[in-house]
Amino acid sequence: MSRAVATAVGSVAVAAVVLGLKLLAWALTGSVALLADALESVVNVAAALAALAAVRFAALPPDANHPYGHTKAEYFSAVLEGALIVLTAVLILHQAWSGLQKPHAPDQPVVGLAISAAASLGNALWAAVLTRRGASLRSPALLADARHLYSDVATSVGVVIGVAAVAATGVLWFDPLLAALTAGNILWSGGRLVRESVGGLMDEAVQPELLGRIRHCLSVSAAGAIEAHDLRTRHAGRLTFVEFHLVVPGAMRVDEAHAICDRIEAALKAEANDAIITIHVEPEGKAKHQGVLVL
Ligand code: ZN
Ligand code: ZN
Repeated sequence: MSRAVATAVGSVAVAAVVLGLKLLAWALTGSVALLADALESVVNVAAALAALAAVRFAALPPDANHPYGHTKAEYFSAVLEGALIVLTAVLILHQAWSGLQKPHAPDQPVVGLAISAAASLGNALWAAVLTRRGASLRSPALLADARHLYSDVATSVGVVIGVAAVAATGVLWFDPLLAALTAGNILWSGGRLVRESVGGLMDEAVQPELLGRIRHCLSVSAAGAIEAHDLRTRHAGRLTFVEFHLVVPGAMRVDEAHAICDRIEAALKAEANDAIITIHVEPEGKAKHQGVLVL
């Protein structure tokens, strides 16, 4: 079992335990805001299962059917997760609306809130683990999961404080209001997640910062060549695809040009891990006098 898969299995387990605790907190108190919080955890279980499937699939080596590998599978789970987040928000708004019609004071607030707080602490710890692993494995699915969990923790903290305030003050409409605010927060994080994953599925270029490093790396590692143009980049999960045309003197021997290409590839791979590089070599008549000039 790879580290990514082990992490995804851990997410499923944490989500299931947290869901159980939050449902218990809701059952004890009858608070709409705590129900909203628990509903988010139902989504977490589903999303963690989807991430597990995606991470396993993304780890498969390239095959005859998928010669570029399966790394984009992770974006599907991230988009699915975003869609689930939106669905949850709608469910919560519905609950908040009915809660507003029949306001209800929380029963056993102390026990219920303590259980809910413990569940959120578990979520926060797991989100920290996911962020570290997601960054080191460069896995969009794990990072998406971590972000989702953090937004969950933020809402849960607000909900716990709010329900405690309702119990203390007896201002009952505050409970459904809190549930609605929870929904708004969830919608915001879901929208961002979808936006980033769709960028990955649509072969968006790498971030300007990385692109700048790639261009610089090219211009200093291609000595002997004249210019590089038509540079294109994209991410596919943890992989970074880089391709460009490399203009060399027309009389250069193939083995010399190939040595330059090998040097550039080594330099680019040091700059961006898991870079997949394709270089098209051209004689100087093809120079465009634009793109990256070789220093
Ligand atoms: Zn060209
Ligand atoms: Zn070669």
